[in-house]
Amino acid sequence: MQIILGDITKQEVDAIVNAANTSLLGGSGVDGAIHRAAGSELVHECRLLGGCKIGDAKLTKGYRLPARFIIHTVGPVWRGGDCGEPELLAECYRKSMQIAADKEFESLAFPCISTGIYRYPKALAGEIAVKICSEQIQNNGGPQRVIFCCFDRENYEIYERILSNYS
Ligand code: ADP
Repeated sequence: MQIILGDITKQEVDAIVNAANTSLLGGSGVDGAIHRAAGSELVHECRLLGGCKIGDAKLTKGYRLPARFIIHTVGPVWRGGDCGEPELLAECYRKSMQIAADKEFESLAFPCISTGIYRYPKALAGEIAVKICSEQIQNNGGPQRVIFCCFDRENYEIYERILSNYS
């Protein structure tokens, strides 16, 4: 597991994860950036998928991205933490890692799901991300390279602190 500070649309990996919304038809934040960088063919494939539930994940091609594939997952909106948000966020990471393992992807980059417009507290979200990915690597063996792609320094520093407690 590693951390970078940067734009996920620039990552040369087997797959990047998109923090999408339930329509899968594009939105703001990282979702908008991924759709713009991948090009309009992406939304055509997304239309065929029939949306995505919160905590679920679906795979598309990467089109014009350097990444070959995109795993679209829908994080929970933060409503104070008593509405199942931690379990749903964990499910996003688990399902994305499962798809990557099933497809034998070697490298996978995650954005900090739900920590933008969905207002999930960054440190709590980071703890879940690292814990679930670490469990999945141990249980499924892959993907070998998991990158937490932070867009802001605050998230980057949070992940540095969390990862320093993992082997
Ligand atoms: P959500 O609705 O799940 O909160 P957002 O896109 O609003 O999704 O934010 C999720 C995270 O993605 C935030 O930490 C935001 O700073 C980050 N982000 C926005 N654009 C990019 C990008 N191009 N690459 C990586 N991360 C990004």
